[in-house]
Amino acid sequence: SHVLVCGGTGCTSSGSQQIMVALREELKKQGLDEEVSVVQTGCHGLCALGPIMIVYPDATFYAMVKEEDIPEIVEEHLLKGRPVQRLLYDETVTPSGVKSLGDTDFYKKQHRIALRNCGVINPEVIEEYIGTGGYQALGKVLTEMTPDDVIQVLLDSGLRGRGGAGFPTGLKWKLAKGNAADQKYVCCNADEGDPGAFMDRSVLEGDPHAVLEAMTIAGYAIGASQGYIYVRAEYPIAVQRLKIAIDQAREMELLGDDIFGSGFSFNIDLRLGAGAFVCGEETALMVSIEGNRGEPRPRPPFPAQKGLFGKPTILNNVETWANIPQIILNGPEWFSSMGTEKSKGTKVFALGGKIHNTGLVEVPMGTTLREIIEEIGGGIPNGKKFKAAQTGGPSGGCIPAEHFDIPIDYDNLVAIGSMMGSGGLIVMDEDDCMVDIAKFFLEFTVEESCGKCTPCRIGTKRMLEILEKITKGQATMADLDKLEELCYYIKANSACALGQTAPNPVLSTLKYFRDEYVAHIVDKT
Ligand code: SF4
Repeated sequence: SHVLVCGGTGCTSSGSQQIMVALREELKKQGLDEEVSVVQTGCHGLCALGPIMIVYPDATFYAMVKEEDIPEIVEEHLLKGRPVQRLLYDETVTPSGVKSLGDTDFYKKQHRIALRNCGVINPEVIEEYIGTGGYQALGKVLTEMTPDDVIQVLLDSGLRGRGGAGFPTGLKWKLAKGNAADQKYVCCNADEGDPGAFMDRSVLEGDPHAVLEAMTIAGYAIGASQGYIYVRAEYPIAVQRLKIAIDQAREMELLGDDIFGSGFSFNIDLRLGAGAFVCGEETALMVSIEGNRGEPRPRPPFPAQKGLFGKPTILNNVETWANIPQIILNGPEWFSSMGTEKSKGTKVFALGGKIHNTGLVEVPMGTTLREIIEEIGGGIPNGKKFKAAQTGGPSGGCIPAEHFDIPIDYDNLVAIGSMMGSGGLIVMDEDDCMVDIAKFFLEFTVEESCGKCTPCRIGTKRMLEILEKITKGQATMADLDKLEELCYYIKANSACALGQTAPNPVLSTLKYFRDEYVAHIVDKT
């Protein structure tokens, strides 16, 4: 028998490391240390209920476990076979199988592809990844497929970039493959910086080999021998697990020279970001890897033509990578059978704000906001009413209650003035002031603007000043007009996506909650 304990950042911050130490000690005390193994996993998604523990063979799911609960769990459950009722995540999920974990409200509408191994395997043991079919996709690619076959599978699957913009992944690879060069590069954008987004962190912490395998497949497809993972230094657990995973993959010759004796060589190195949001923008990220100050550079040329060190480069985000081995193994039709017409597969959302089940969920594209918030998220605490959900972080916008039933996909979100972004989903209730929300995101943008171009550097500051004036009750209607004018000016004239999207939180709140802005204005003439 074995016990899984979540070792993701959420559960670690609520004490899961101490729980593991206490559990191992107690097992030893009770003479069970040979029989019961304690396995550290990645995140299960229910971050607000940590530390999470799953006891096998009956898969009993415990939530909010404390150190002092450990003797009881060992004594009652592991020795006497009686689960500790008060710690059950859902008391209807019983070992006798009345309801399985997959039947609970939180999990039943989820479909985990990118998160499939998170919370299930020990991410620090490569054999566990291999045991769930890991590296089979790479084996298949190297033995049965040409680079063009791989690209065709991705094109047919309809996979679009999960980092925000939704560019077709297969097309990106095709463009890079078509550009001949002596050296090409494959990059992973793990500089997840949107406030409220933590899906990439979770994949890296829970299933790092999936990203390594996918990048290696990409190297084969486009003809690259070197990959870089640009990961933010604020993710120490993710960095550590990536280092372990890279070492293990090299040791098993799944990375390095002549992989599987195929003659194909590929290596991956880490580069740590130092906390600049703008380095999540693809050109700034590459400039930073090159060792320079992380500032965006103009496109074209696009990375597929002239990217890292001036060579053809592809760059995808962590969640995109995590889908790829499964697409190769299960085929493009399997993937494209999920989702909406133009957005295939699933999307991971980080639920935050005024919602019961704060955490990570992965749902098919086209799931409605209502299903995510009311069913999976468990609704809004304290009987309060839903006001809006913010998606896409500082580049996104607010979705009001009138769009509660819209199927969420890339195009629908853009049509209602928001965007998918990386998948942060922050819920606001009736007490939240939408002007404050817009101000919060703008403060973030002002802080994170790299300063290279004037509309973004100066324009966002002027916008913030007006917003401060509004919230202090000192603004006039002319200020509101000025704010709107600045939005359009900054969007049209900023050099990179950070500035071009910075006004979105203001524009979407103005669109749906203009009355809240006007309510702050004293002189309404
Ligand atoms: Fe820098 Fe902002 Fe200009 Fe982008 S838009 S280059 S972040 S100043």
